[in-house]
Amino acid sequence: MKRKLLSALLSTALAASLLAGCAAPAATSAPAADAAPAAEAEAEAPADDAAAEAEAPAGGAGGKVGVSMPTKDLQRWNQDGDNMKTQLEAAGYEVDLQYASNDVQTQLSQIENMISSGCNVLAIAAIEGSSLGEALDMAKDAGIPVIAYDRLLMDSDAVSYYATFDNYMVGTVQGQYIVDTLDLENAEGPFNLEITAGDPGDNNAGYFFNGAYDVLKPYIDSGKLVVVSGQNTFEQCATPTWATETAQSRAENILSSYYADGTNVDVWLCSNDSTALGVENALAANYNGTYPIITGQDCDIENVKNMIAGKQSMSVFKDTRTLASQVVKMVGQILNGEEVDVNDTETYNNNVITVPSYLCEPVFADVNNYKELLIDSGYYTEDQLK
Ligand code: BGC
Repeated sequence: MKRKLLSALLSTALAASLLAGCAAPAATSAPAADAAPAAEAEAEAPADDAAAEAEAPAGGAGGKVGVSMPTKDLQRWNQDGDNMKTQLEAAGYEVDLQYASNDVQTQLSQIENMISSGCNVLAIAAIEGSSLGEALDMAKDAGIPVIAYDRLLMDSDAVSYYATFDNYMVGTVQGQYIVDTLDLENAEGPFNLEITAGDPGDNNAGYFFNGAYDVLKPYIDSGKLVVVSGQNTFEQCATPTWATETAQSRAENILSSYYADGTNVDVWLCSNDSTALGVENALAANYNGTYPIITGQDCDIENVKNMIAGKQSMSVFKDTRTLASQVVKMVGQILNGEEVDVNDTETYNNNVITVPSYLCEPVFADVNNYKELLIDSGYYTEDQLK
């Protein structure tokens, strides 16, 4: 009811600006986020109350949106931040965009500032999903809805919505790429596999790992894939803060302990591009065998260059323009008191509530389709990849 009231109070100008914000990004061949019928389901999680109670932005149309990003160190977050800012501003909002240098305290105080400086909605990509409780409580007390951006905010009932790419599917796409490329159904094998996973503080990392592992497990169980190092649990394969250097030194250890005798590593499953880069550096310095299939995620420029040079096989492409436009749409729907588009109300439990989510669909890029996906869609220019 409150929502209807809010909706009536807000001007049509806001609605018009929201429509602009929902427009799909300029021609892209990446799959548009696709709303399953269940998507229309109205989210009834407790945190939805915060959304319902959101103050109408001062001045009717517009409003101020706080966008909290983890770090500028990784290319993708710069793109996410830029896309959010551009699209939110185009939709008529004021934007407070902050990067937290991968420091949790910095992110906490940036978010607290956003709250005290009058943001009407927050979109947060957490450094550590479970470390922002204080700031989230503050947002809830102030009636400010919070959207978890890409990474789920954990252990809190102050999260209204979650927008991300389907994280489990990112993993299954990587796993399936390996199955298809090695033709595991028909090839005799065995093939040697190593695994580099993500940050244990990031809820996404387990989904990536599990998605890929579930696809590969039958072949590991049958002996067609052999994890020579024996390191095949998420904990053993994890890379704190997704750091390239950490992935590199673990890969160096594996190579010197298990592959120095000339054994070939046939596949290296890497959850994302920053960790793939570490593995690629380790291979360049410490390995003379047949070059392995290497997976990644994000299509970072360095990694796409490596893909073109034959040093990385694929990277899952998550078009940050698509995610940003979905979040801009959410922001508009929240502030306008409309039903918020979600397509998953079951998967993402943060230990306190199941957060209504919108999952965009990832695809993979490799040397055969990167031009169409990345250049023709305007994501990169050809020069950026030289
Ligand atoms: C994101 C990935 C990214 C990783 C490291 C994850 O939460 O979903 O796209 O590669 O963080 O920044």
